[in-house]
Amino acid sequence: MKISEKLSGMFVLHSSLGRTMTIFMLLLLTAVLMVSAWTLNRSWAHKLQDIRSNAVNLSVSQARQAEDTFLQTEITLRAIQRDIPNNGPTYANKAALSAVLAEMKRGLPQLNGLFVYDAQGNWVATAAQTPTGMNNADREYFLYHRKNRHGGSHIGHVIRSRSTGELVIPVSIRLNDSGGGFVGVALATVRIDSFRRFYSYFEMGDGDLLALLLDDGTALYVRPFPDSFINRSLSSSPLFTTQLVRADRGTGTWNSALDNKVRIFGYARSGQYPLIVAAGFDKSALWSQWLHDSMPDLVLNGMLLIVIVMIGTVVLRQVRTNVENQIELTTLRDELTTINQSLQALALLDGLTGLANRRQFDIFLAQNLKRSAISGRPVGLIMMDVDFFKRYNDTYGHVAGDNCLRRVGEALKNLPLRQTDLIARYGGEEFAIVLPDATPDAALRIAQSAVEAVREAAIPHKSTALKDEVVTLSAGCFVLVGSDTGQDAQLIKEGADHALYQAKHNGRNRAVVNEAG
Ligand code: GH3
Ligand code: MG
Ligand code: MG
Repeated sequence: MKISEKLSGMFVLHSSLGRTMTIFMLLLLTAVLMVSAWTLNRSWAHKLQDIRSNAVNLSVSQARQAEDTFLQTEITLRAIQRDIPNNGPTYANKAALSAVLAEMKRGLPQLNGLFVYDAQGNWVATAAQTPTGMNNADREYFLYHRKNRHGGSHIGHVIRSRSTGELVIPVSIRLNDSGGGFVGVALATVRIDSFRRFYSYFEMGDGDLLALLLDDGTALYVRPFPDSFINRSLSSSPLFTTQLVRADRGTGTWNSALDNKVRIFGYARSGQYPLIVAAGFDKSALWSQWLHDSMPDLVLNGMLLIVIVMIGTVVLRQVRTNVENQIELTTLRDELTTINQSLQALALLDGLTGLANRRQFDIFLAQNLKRSAISGRPVGLIMMDVDFFKRYNDTYGHVAGDNCLRRVGEALKNLPLRQTDLIARYGGEEFAIVLPDATPDAALRIAQSAVEAVREAAIPHKSTALKDEVVTLSAGCFVLVGSDTGQDAQLIKEGADHALYQAKHNGRNRAVVNEAG
């Protein structure tokens, strides 16, 4: 790679077009990226919002369903309470009571069993024909009612039924005598299976959960977790530590206490019973599903970005080519300007002496004569010719002759001239000085100092006919006011030439002015 190519590659960024295009492309890229990110972010936010409201709706409806189940159970227990004699359940009417219980249970498929215990916890009657002689005084609900005098229903932790072996939720009320004394407990056991079946109707993902909880944080049933999770305490979960403290229903995202998975939760507390329902949707599964659904958008955005990058590359390459061309053109122009300047200088200078050449002399004289025709101010011309130069060449050779001419030129360059004057080599061993705005006297004075200067340069010339044996020159001056007739140049040269002839004729090594003008 040539240095200029490397430079132009860098200059793409430094050229204003390259910079503008790069900034424009970067801005476009950023804008598309931001719009894409914003759109996708909004789509994800909408998805989360939908999930949150789904979760709340599901929890509220399931809390209501659980309330209905427990309300029906409580109504049944109240009916049993009414059927019990004032002094408590007795074995005398055991058969009749059991029949009533069996009848009541038939209408409620969610019930596993109905029981009546006496004050000692002995089974008095059940809805099923089970072996008598069993005692439930050790059960939590029995101890609870014996201790608490209130007549409300009590929902306990899940237990395994002693009659059927099934997992059940015990719902119980206290039986009082007319004085408010404890005479026994009426118990209904609600099947966990009824919730299991009911919750399985909902289409939920493998990682999504639906939980029925007691308000002390105990799990009654959690779909889809195995039964080993039943009765586990979730009281340290954010649901109990922060959410339910603030509101009875709402949403939130937290790590599930059961399996530490991040879920988006909705929850609702029952108004009537110490029950809470929570629905949680697995966030990572939602994210995967959302990614899958957004794939067409992502691909389209990606393609758009690729197209922009491709267009940008093409445009920048084009700009780079332009910059390269520009650099080449500028270099070429600079080179041409330099060449042109030196050509111009060469065209106007005499190669041997460095004085103005004949061409410059002609142009300069013509210009000044034209100006003189307008201003009316005279132009002076001094024509000079080296004396006996043929003899010099013959004596010293042409190379020495050239050298001599160079020294004569140097002597003339040192004359005290005005900036507007011009010294030129007219041709051969002849020199000329153009003096704009000069009188004949002034011209003669300068001509004399030129003659003097060359003589004083003391260039040896032993074959000269003059006695000093140095190189000398003769000068003739003429002054003319331009008339713009086109003849001026010829007239002034003839005038000066005539004076030069006079100077030669008068003995050389002198200046003569032609006053004819
Ligand atoms: P005069 O005093 O009457 O001027 O005598 P002159 O010998 O100088 O005059 P002439 O015109 O007879 O000779 C001029 C000579 O100048 C002829 C030529 O050989 C020589 N000459 C002209 N141009 C150059 C030049 O560029 N270099 C050299 N070395 N000689 C030149
Ligand atoms: Mg001559
Ligand atoms: Mg001569």
